Amino acid sequence: MRARFQGNGEITFEKVTLCDVAEGDVRLRVDVCALCGSDKRLLQSGSAVVPGHEIGGTVVGGALPEGTRGIVYIPVFCGTCVRCLAGRTNQCLNLSELIGWQRDGGFAEHVDVPARCVLPVPDDIPLSVAVLGLDTVGTAAHALRLALRTQDSADRTLVVGAGPLGLGVVAVAQAMGIAVDAFDPNPTRLAAATTLGATPAGDLSAENQYDMVVEVSGANAARETAQRVVQPGGTVVALGESNEPYTMPATPRWRRTDCYTVRSFYFPTQEVEANWDLLRVMGASLRDLIVKPLTLPELPEAFARFVAGDYVKPCIVSADAHLVSEVTR
Ligand SMILES: [Zn+2]
Ligand SMILES: [Zn+2]
Repeated sequence: MRARFQGNGEITFEKVTLCDVAEGDVRLRVDVCALCGSDKRLLQSGSAVVPGHEIGGTVVGGALPEGTRGIVYIPVFCGTCVRCLAGRTNQCLNLSELIGWQRDGGFAEHVDVPARCVLPVPDDIPLSVAVLGLDTVGTAAHALRLALRTQDSADRTLVVGAGPLGLGVVAVAQAMGIAVDAFDPNPTRLAAATTLGATPAGDLSAENQYDMVVEVSGANAARETAQRVVQPGGTVVALGESNEPYTMPATPRWRRTDCYTVRSFYFPTQEVEANWDLLRVMGASLRDLIVKPLTLPELPEAFARFVAGDYVKPCIVSADAHLVSEVTR
């Protein structure tokens, strides 16, 4: 079975007859596939392929040994350009597709992906934690690493937006020893950020408050806040996704200062080992705070509750009993 997004919020399911695995591909049984805020766009627009791009699973056929547990790296990188050869796979010069966007993703019982996009999971890390190593922790950690290259020290850091990725930024920052303030207009989300160790931000109407501001929501008001509260010499990390262009203010204050703007999207495979170490520190507690396990037939309900803000990070888990209990324990 697999899900189809028909547009206008409608999800249907269809039966699948599995064909042979294409050369160079791997077939995974999808054990867990997390919902991402970006999937809401596909829910509205409809999708030509099966969505779902935060995938953890077990190899059942193809170019890797059966039984290998892996998470799926969504940019289908070429593996041969200078960026890929340097391990900077998220900067691939020949990037063709994203799994779950231009080719079938994980809201299904099985998914076929290129073997090089399977990141094997260490034995001591449960898949329910490992899957957070993609968009939630992998993207957050990469953004913070890039931002830290611009700052000698980041004594004052603010995270704007405490959805799944914002909470990932908070949790990773804690594990990296960076103290953060957090802001979110939604009190439940802000409370989750404080549970992870953030301090609720105070009045953000004044300028020049922070060395680093990680803007995770993509909302214009949040971007304006980030640009206002960053100090001269500071760094704004524009991590939020939006269809709106990212603009810079034309105010005298903004024009007469130094400021770094860092944009990033996903993590390179060369950071995966370091990300496992982060997950060993904070992965289980982050999972227990944000993950809500549901099954594939419950996908429409999962999205409804996700859009309503009832669930922070719904995850579709296979009917495999041990995985459900691992996620719900
Ligand atoms: Zn995502
Ligand atoms: Zn490449």
